[in-house]
Amino acid sequence: MGLFVHKYGGSSVADAGKIVNVAKRIAGVHESGHQVVTVVSAMGNTTDELIDLARTVADEPDPRELDLLLSTGELVSITLLSMALRSLGYDAISLSGPQAGIRTDNAYGRARISEVDPARLQHELAKGRLVIVAGFQGLTPDEDITTLGRGGSDTTAVALAAALRADRCDIYTDVEGIYTADPRVVSKAAKLSEVGYDEMLELAAAGAKMHPRSIELGAVYKVPIYVASSFTDAPGTLIQQPSDEAPMEDRIKVTGIAYQTNVAKVTVCGVEDKPGVAAALFEPLAASGISVDTIVQNTSADRTTTDISFTVTSDDLPQTLRQLSSMEPALSVAQVISDSSLASVSVVGSGMQNTPGYASRMFRILADGGINIDMITTSEIRISCIIDREQAHEAVRLLHRGFELDKG
Ligand code: ASP
Ligand code: MG
Repeated sequence: MGLFVHKYGGSSVADAGKIVNVAKRIAGVHESGHQVVTVVSAMGNTTDELIDLARTVADEPDPRELDLLLSTGELVSITLLSMALRSLGYDAISLSGPQAGIRTDNAYGRARISEVDPARLQHELAKGRLVIVAGFQGLTPDEDITTLGRGGSDTTAVALAAALRADRCDIYTDVEGIYTADPRVVSKAAKLSEVGYDEMLELAAAGAKMHPRSIELGAVYKVPIYVASSFTDAPGTLIQQPSDEAPMEDRIKVTGIAYQTNVAKVTVCGVEDKPGVAAALFEPLAASGISVDTIVQNTSADRTTTDISFTVTSDDLPQTLRQLSSMEPALSVAQVISDSSLASVSVVGSGMQNTPGYASRMFRILADGGINIDMITTSEIRISCIIDREQAHEAVRLLHRGFELDKG
């Protein structure tokens, strides 16, 4: 008998028929003798609709109230799923994030899980129940409800799997797994049967559709994560520590190409070239939860002033510009320029570690495709280029072919 955490995303519980489908799948797991805790997201686009609704009454909804509002989306789907299971004759119980013992800090809208107290879950499982938990939410030390950031149900699921020491965390979604590139963009993309945490983290951060924090948690607590379709039984992708038995040739290749189309670039011109300027610039952004990605600081010819460019998501651009304009006097900024029509494309693979030549190959492929590179960043196992958004899909296709990932 195993203990599993299963997670179903919004598209898998988008309507009544799909909820009944999920109920039957969970019942099947139970019938084969396993214990299962199921985490669900809000139905379909509910979260977006709730955000829009909030904005009809307030331009900038109060963060505490907004989180409490958003948490209702998941309460709808867990209760319906539990009712569906009960009407099929199974003993199911739904629990909100707080009831399931999920504690967070008090950063509304992007709270981080501080602790999971699994006592209630274990108690319900011991009674032989099917436990359904609301994703994406938790409780602060002051007993207020928080949400974990968009897409946060993945993180809820992996956190519960870690706290329960589950055998595996299954993420069921509308795609069949993790691919070498987005199959909607590259028809020759191939499904990966296995991928390591490190590579998956880079892929997720660079645009593959998973909450990156869930992968971080999985890596730290060694929770194997299986990503598969909620609609078919096709084999999915297992995310885990790569085994030493992986075929040698596979380990030296690029694993996948990821991209993001919501990239904006900000250039702060003419700031003083002296210690503390970058810190003064980025600390307030970090404090307001804006995550800055690629950063480039140019060396100035005269060594008195410099330009700093960085990227944020297009969604964060308005707030970033507001923050910067309030800092301008203190930093004696000459000018702030921004461009919100960019994208990033990334080549990811642990095989790139300590192997020269991948970056130049990437630049050559993009150059031959007539694609101009705006900015570049690298990690040990990822190279990312910021390019024009219009050319993002083409870049992904060219890189997929150029790095010999096209199958067939
Ligand atoms: N319902 C939330 C969202 O749409 C959480 C999730 O889907 O994981 O972001
Ligand atoms: Mg969702």
